[in-house]
Amino acid sequence: MQKKEAFFKKCLVCGKNDFSIFSKNEYRIWYTCCSCGLLRKKHIKKEVNLRENYYGGKFNLGNIYNKIYFYFYIRFVLLSYINNSEFLLDLGCGDGRFLGVLGRFFPKKMIYGVEPDPEGALIVGQKGFVVFDKVLSKCGFKSDFFKVITAFHVVEHFTDPIEEIREIGRVLKPGGYFVAFTPNIRSWGFKIGGKDWWGFDSPYHTVLWSPELLGKFLEDNGFEIVSRRNLVFEQISCIYNTLKVKLCVKNRFVFSFIKILLVPFSLILTLIENMFNYSESFEIIVRKK
Ligand SMILES: [Zn+2]
Repeated sequence: MQKKEAFFKKCLVCGKNDFSIFSKNEYRIWYTCCSCGLLRKKHIKKEVNLRENYYGGKFNLGNIYNKIYFYFYIRFVLLSYINNSEFLLDLGCGDGRFLGVLGRFFPKKMIYGVEPDPEGALIVGQKGFVVFDKVLSKCGFKSDFFKVITAFHVVEHFTDPIEEIREIGRVLKPGGYFVAFTPNIRSWGFKIGGKDWWGFDSPYHTVLWSPELLGKFLEDNGFEIVSRRNLVFEQISCIYNTLKVKLCVKNRFVFSFIKILLVPFSLILTLIENMFNYSESFEIIVRKK
């Protein structure tokens, strides 16, 4: 690995100033912390807008599948954290598919969305939810306001993770919950995929975590860990997305055919990764102290 002084003064997690270049292309450099392994990105030049990846493209697992998953998630996880007089925020709510399912359980007036992408925010607004098209720190929420903040595949987008996480801590009530899903750099998929791993795929990702690194970062910033677990439901699509980059498959129909062929392989890998806690992505739930 090539060694070079990075533009970060010190690592977000371990505080050391010792970085190596992990990968580089004409648009971006990914640096890894030589001490703890945290990965952070520096942009060299602006990349093309790949929004379709987020709204209706390869990261879309299908509306019905999402709805079923979110239904059970809210039913068996979130309902135990919140009652009908409290407020809930979905940070980085995208096109509002999670808010849509929340609306079946809670009155719309207690549900808020934040989506800095104006096109996503417009779609959410059209669905009748209160949505802010800014980053959280610019929304002006009152302190100690929300009981739960969810962030599904958002913490890997933070350009200033310390500022973002402190703002989350400020607007959460004491004892309130922050729930995050994010790619896992401890996964076997990352070790096998290397620079082609799906976690690097998006031009929007800026920082990549493991459950241990994100846990320590959150603990250092005023939270206590409630739980960490593997995200089994995302495994197969993550493995496909790594293969898609590695094999340079551009044609959708060819890729669909490869997907079908790889179902047995993906299922076995999923099973093994989860058994040994090396899943492609993870969930962390923390409580504000
Ligand atoms: Zn570090």
